[in-house]
Amino acid sequence: DSACAERKVDSVCPYCGVGCQLTYHVRDERILFVEGRNGPANENRLCVKGRFGFDYPNHRGRLTTPLIRRAGVPKGVDPAFDPANPLSHFRPASWDEALDFAAAGLRRLLDTHGPGVLAGFGSAKCSNEEAWLFQKLVRTGFGSNNVDHCTRLCHASSVAALMECIGSGAVTASFMQAAHADVVILTGCNPTVNHPVAATYFKQAAKRGTRLIVLDPRGLVLGHHAHRMVRFTPGSDVALFNAMLNVIVGEGLCDRDFIAARTEGFEALAAHVAPLTPEAMAPLCGVAPDEIRAIARLYATAERAMIFWGMGISQHVHGTDNARCLIALALATGHVGRPGTGLHPLRGQNNVQGASDAGLIPMVLPDYRPVGDAQYRAAFEELWATPLPAEPGLTVVETMDAIAAGRVRGMYILGENPAMSDPDLHHTRAALARLEHLVVQDLFVTETAQFADVILPASAWPEKDGTVTNTNRQIQLGRAAVPLPGEARPDWWILQQLARCLGLDWQYAHPREVFAEMKRAMRSLDHIDWARLEREGAVTTPCPAEDAPGKDVVFDDRFPTASGRARFRPTVPLPPDEPVDAAWPTVLITGRQLEHWHTGAMTRRSAVLDALEPAAVATLAPAELTRLGLAPGAALSIETRRGRITLAARADPLMPAGMVFVPFCYVEAAANLLTNPALDPYGKIPEFKYAACRLAPA
Ligand code: SF4
Repeated sequence: DSACAERKVDSVCPYCGVGCQLTYHVRDERILFVEGRNGPANENRLCVKGRFGFDYPNHRGRLTTPLIRRAGVPKGVDPAFDPANPLSHFRPASWDEALDFAAAGLRRLLDTHGPGVLAGFGSAKCSNEEAWLFQKLVRTGFGSNNVDHCTRLCHASSVAALMECIGSGAVTASFMQAAHADVVILTGCNPTVNHPVAATYFKQAAKRGTRLIVLDPRGLVLGHHAHRMVRFTPGSDVALFNAMLNVIVGEGLCDRDFIAARTEGFEALAAHVAPLTPEAMAPLCGVAPDEIRAIARLYATAERAMIFWGMGISQHVHGTDNARCLIALALATGHVGRPGTGLHPLRGQNNVQGASDAGLIPMVLPDYRPVGDAQYRAAFEELWATPLPAEPGLTVVETMDAIAAGRVRGMYILGENPAMSDPDLHHTRAALARLEHLVVQDLFVTETAQFADVILPASAWPEKDGTVTNTNRQIQLGRAAVPLPGEARPDWWILQQLARCLGLDWQYAHPREVFAEMKRAMRSLDHIDWARLEREGAVTTPCPAEDAPGKDVVFDDRFPTASGRARFRPTVPLPPDEPVDAAWPTVLITGRQLEHWHTGAMTRRSAVLDALEPAAVATLAPAELTRLGLAPGAALSIETRRGRITLAARADPLMPAGMVFVPFCYVEAAANLLTNPALDPYGKIPEFKYAACRLAPA
């Protein structure tokens, strides 16, 4: 009952990239309940995570004091370890002792081995200001660009393709523009589960007449609202999209004026796709030629059309090629730069856009200019009054390989959980155990924190002020609603204390001062400041003036490439890294559930969400269960070349035969023990969406 609440605090949901605004209702310094607010991306709506996933900060396992590993306790994910009672493995420490210990270990490795021996993983769950400080600490304090975050595991390939083809990695139009589109393609995404409030906009658009084309190997709930739901063979995206391009070019459905005025490289693309006919590609992608022609015509002949995609596109060894194809479809038809048109990779975490903008990436500085760009780097050297490294740093998976090879010996991990989220966890966990010094900053003793030498108790989202940037490029303000427990501290404060221990002179008094520093270097923040965000709640970047709204649709006149034109990039259909065969006949894909977020660190500690989905499940077609002789709920064994897990089987009539889906949030059946670490060569993203496995009753 809102009448009982002592106060209300406006903030933003901490989970997915939709960025729903919400209001915390607080009494006795605890959140009673949450209501949706009239934000630009949610108009009062919330999904189950935003509405009920607010109590994790009060979980009994919440860290309230710094911890230092006890001598002789081995590092690793120990099934007998109780994260809510960590004193068996760690001892409490004061902040002074923990920070000195953390900094001394990092300093010792730096002094002995030089820059490059340390690496940092930041988090897309942190604010823009925390992301900025984290990458600044790594670049100026560790002396390398070895800083990355989970964008590497979600949309790095999409960003690589977008940067290459249109000069910008962000979306060209918000998902609200779907309301103005005649046709919307949704491919490799499952918005009703992963972007639930965005899914409501797609459903509304469909009701008003927008024709949804859903392309996916799985049948999806959104398919019930679709004009066409087309299932294709897993891993054959490039074949399907090239066949669509073949139809569009061959039937003269291109926007010749747009191509001539705004693009380059079309003739090479046209020649490339000429032999890739629907008949030639159908055996690869499993879609009938007439169906390919129908969807290609529908998209190309629409007055306004958009493409949305998710990690079913990006998490492949050909993820960058997948995105290049989607960009080519939009460029060939002129479906970009106008209302109701555009390219939109649905961003995963609440601040993956902002954390990337703020520079949590090893090869670019904030706002995506390469670390090797001497002129751009000089501006940061002046701002931070220190020389900066010019060599690109290591990505997430490369860092694990470098640890295994002994090149990286120390790490600082803030709010990430690679011991659950990286591919091929046996390899990842062995690497983490090998680190000579690991500093983890988090809310709980996560699986990754079980490898730490020192754990710094951090702040939960409802306990701090900060900005985040959602999938629509809308920068929004989160506000502290409740106090920090015990000795837990704001993340920006911890970063600053550690920086000072490493000899850096940081003097921030509040995140708004960090934001002010970011504005001095990042043109994407022009005309947006903290006071405006407090006043207006959200401002879209880029923003042309202090009294103007930000641009919902970008690139109406030129693309931010050197020539101002967008580029076509032809692609060749390639098989998955690990195709199914007689011994490994089933395709394993991994992802999220509606009720659980990422590795489950927050949602599995949230009472309602954990009650809704308390145990590990794998979903597969009812016919597959029958074939295996299993009843729903029975124990299923899933094995790949890298490992084996056992969990409950769940029937899902939307799943195709020959495929199994496993969420990656359950430590007791960790999906990433099975996944393939093979990387896309451009985005360096692993192939989470295809591993060959075999199933058996357990
Ligand atoms: Fe939070 Fe995303 Fe759900 Fe909105 S759709 S409430 S941002 S998890």
